[in-house]
Amino acid sequence: MTVHPQAAACKNWREAASVLNPGTQAFIDGEYRPARSGATFPTVNPATGSIIAHVAACGATDVDDAVVAATRAFSAGHWANAAPAARKAVLQRFADLVEADAESFALLETLDMGKPIRDSLSIDVPAAVRCLRWFAEATDKLYDEIAPTHGDALAMIRRTPVGVVAAIVPWNFPLVTAMTKIAPALAAGNSVVLKPSELSPLSAIRLGQLASEAGLPNGVFNVVPGVGPEAGKALALHEGVAALSFTGSTAVGKLLMGYAGRSNLKKVSLECGGKSANIVLADCPDIDRAVEAAAMGAFHNQGQICNAGTRLILERPIRDVFLEKLVALTRTFLPGDPLLPETRFGAMASAAHAARVRDFIGKGIGEGAQRLTGEGPALPGILPESCIRPTIFAGVSNAMTIAREEIFGPVLSVIDAADMDEAITIANDSPYGLAAAIWTRNLSRALKIERRLDTGLVWINTVRVGDITVPFGGVKASGNGRDKSLHAFDNVTHRKSVWADLSA
Ligand code: NAD
Repeated sequence: MTVHPQAAACKNWREAASVLNPGTQAFIDGEYRPARSGATFPTVNPATGSIIAHVAACGATDVDDAVVAATRAFSAGHWANAAPAARKAVLQRFADLVEADAESFALLETLDMGKPIRDSLSIDVPAAVRCLRWFAEATDKLYDEIAPTHGDALAMIRRTPVGVVAAIVPWNFPLVTAMTKIAPALAAGNSVVLKPSELSPLSAIRLGQLASEAGLPNGVFNVVPGVGPEAGKALALHEGVAALSFTGSTAVGKLLMGYAGRSNLKKVSLECGGKSANIVLADCPDIDRAVEAAAMGAFHNQGQICNAGTRLILERPIRDVFLEKLVALTRTFLPGDPLLPETRFGAMASAAHAARVRDFIGKGIGEGAQRLTGEGPALPGILPESCIRPTIFAGVSNAMTIAREEIFGPVLSVIDAADMDEAITIANDSPYGLAAAIWTRNLSRALKIERRLDTGLVWINTVRVGDITVPFGGVKASGNGRDKSLHAFDNVTHRKSVWADLSA
């Protein structure tokens, strides 16, 4: 990466933020422009409460403009029918440009949603660049298939781009999640319309200019900022959109399936919420490592992570020692000014979201769970309304609200289990099925448990590891899609079967 940790540590990010002048308009058909209505919405820095910028609030007409431009670009074929190696070269340039602009992207992420600048620089932007490079590289490595039919026929199974892909993304990893959607879609030859979250639109808007500079033809990549029930809904209902790739809440995922049914039965791939179990059995191979993983797995990114291990299930013999260490470690996690390089825990994405998280904490207390951490005076460098200290609840039953609902904040529910079987039963007793972790020194036991866990991901003696090479996604209310890896192409391509009669 172009950003070296030492340079990042020395940089005065507050000063950089004060002179930042982010783009605020929609990017449609290769040009920036305001919403046709002239409407805007404010995007707010949650750490200070100040308005960063007023952003174009796209409505149905703007969405239609973007889909029409995307369709025209797809039909023209300059991108869709280009040699895969040519698309690869453009996407690699795109990745180079994002990387060269890493500091601006990191600053936009931190200002827009409150995450520490050290995370934006060392995690978010590099992950987005790696994702784009990986799918760029995959562009000319995809082969079609020939079916084993009888000898008088040739049956080819071709992977074809769907046409226009709509990507609707949330605010917790704005750039990374956007890239996870757009990189495979563009690599496969589609046109894309991206709808960022209204809480974090700035990095997506910046991508438009770099896509053009990289050589993407006009209309192939479009960005329509706006609020979900207007811009997002219009996109999901649009007859010109062939596939919808979504990351966000289960509630909105359900709406999107309905919109697809009411319109053109577009393909819908969903990455939704989670309430993942982290099971620590008494034969855990390394308690200190498991404690640190449990804490970071639940509290990193202020707990605003879909696959966070928010239900910590402890087998009784290990419970007390584990909890004691976990509480001691968690008390050292202090939120602070996201723009200071030493800050490890930032602001919640908005004061309104923080209020929702506080409401869940109140329910935990009200339903009889024992709060072990999270209280304390206001902390410097962060608006009190947007600040939540990492909070651990013990004595949680799996029936309590804080064990059933996705809080999407730094709140960890600790549930006791008598043995392995009870731990598995508790883990599976959830509407969600995104991820689960198991800690045991007995690998064959771990692999047997893995088979019984009803989730899209399982970690053994680790949590929240991932890589662009490994599919990511859930089951049940956590969704149906798989992002990352070559399997991501299934969300944005069709399989076309082509028969040729060879008998003549
Ligand atoms: P959200 O569902 O409220 O919003 C996600 C996106 O959908 C935003 O762009 C929003 O504007 C849009 N939207 C909202 N209403 C819409 C509508 N009626 N029609 C069309 N679009 C609409 O989610 P959020 O609050 O931005 O993000 C948090 C949620 O995202 C959590 O539930 C979290 O678990 C989930 N998430 C899941 C994953 C995953 O990969 N499984 C990753 C990150 C976040």
